Amino acid sequence: MQAISVQQPWAFAIARGGKTVSNQRVPTAHRGRLLIHASMRVDLKACDSPLILAAGWDPRDPLATIGAVIATARLDDVCSDAVRGVPCACGPWADPDRHHWHLADVLPLPRPIVALGRPDPWEPKPSLVAEVETMLANTAALNPRP
Ligand SMILES: [Zn+2]
Repeated sequence: MQAISVQQPWAFAIARGGKTVSNQRVPTAHRGRLLIHASMRVDLKACDSPLILAAGWDPRDPLATIGAVIATARLDDVCSDAVRGVPCACGPWADPDRHHWHLADVLPLPRPIVALGRPDPWEPKPSLVAEVETMLANTAALNPRP
């Protein structure tokens, strides 16, 4: 399991708004589950961007918080074309000069779990992973999918 710390409102856009590309400074060999952590810093300028508004940004939403894990996702692929100056088709969320981490199967947490993050991708403690998994399992039990 790996975790990434993402500034708000971008973390919210992953958890709730269909943002399926996370722009990271580094690539990773990790594939599979990933914790999405909202870092302590907020990208204030981004709060008015059309992309973020279209993603339904709502500062009153519990997942608009900072300093907490707010979702899990599955990391399917990493596109490094942009850092090599090669055009790619990663869509409107992809920034130039960044590795594009492609996320799927995003599960927003019913409530945030306070945790310390790091600027670079990090390895969450087993106790944190267990807390996230227990919360998601309880949510699935309460809301069974048809
Ligand atoms: Zn790309």
